[in-house]
Amino acid sequence: MRRERYPTVWAVGCLIRSECEDAFCSNYQSSVKIHTPRTPKDTIVPLEIIASVTVTLLGWLHVFMLWFAIWAPLVALLEYGTHRWIMHVANRLLDPQLRQLKSHVAHHKGANTPEFVDVPLRNCLLLTSPAFLLLASWGLAIGPWSAVVIPATALLAWSFLYKYLWERMHRAIHGVESNWFQRCGLMFRFFRNHHLKHHANGRVNYGTVFPWTDYLFCTWRDRRAARASRSKTGLVPIPTNSVEADE
Ligand SMILES: [Zn+2]
Ligand SMILES: [Zn+2]
Repeated sequence: MRRERYPTVWAVGCLIRSECEDAFCSNYQSSVKIHTPRTPKDTIVPLEIIASVTVTLLGWLHVFMLWFAIWAPLVALLEYGTHRWIMHVANRLLDPQLRQLKSHVAHHKGANTPEFVDVPLRNCLLLTSPAFLLLASWGLAIGPWSAVVIPATALLAWSFLYKYLWERMHRAIHGVESNWFQRCGLMFRFFRNHHLKHHANGRVNYGTVFPWTDYLFCTWRDRRAARASRSKTGLVPIPTNSVEADE
């Protein structure tokens, strides 16, 4: 068709062809988009936000781990203090009905059921509650509440972890549960000896999950020293459980 001879028809033809090309291009581009790999801009959540959230979570985890390490000595001291000054002496201020003392004396006499071997979670939470109160006061008086959430979470995590560790270790030591701790070889024998020496002489080796506290309070004794100390002080030997400590 010649443009000069049929200008009107030519113009209409061009218009139709232009429309068809536009439609084709549009369909083609949309179909191509389906198969084209998505660029970062096409993702539902922008990469910048994902990166920002990841950095924030890692930052929180870092602070959590830091506080977890900070609380560890406190938990160790609480274990020592509770064992020595609540479970081995009549402390009516902290244990008015002497339940902990009576229960622990029964354990030293050979009672190894969970009631006597385990530590209730309630006790762990009660012992750490002053630290929670301090944190709450700090949040209320000085810093934003958000500043105490991670330290509090780390301390709460310790309560659960300590209960878990104490029960696995104490049960394994007294042979009332076969668990991963019993399969720890030398480490198991070390903790077992340390604790059974405490059963032989109730005035030494109070640390169970954290034996190093006995060094701090000068109550770390080996078996021979424990016997000598017992004969000197005239203490009545507390019955040892079925499993004897190694020399
Ligand atoms: Zn025990
Ligand atoms: Zn004890």
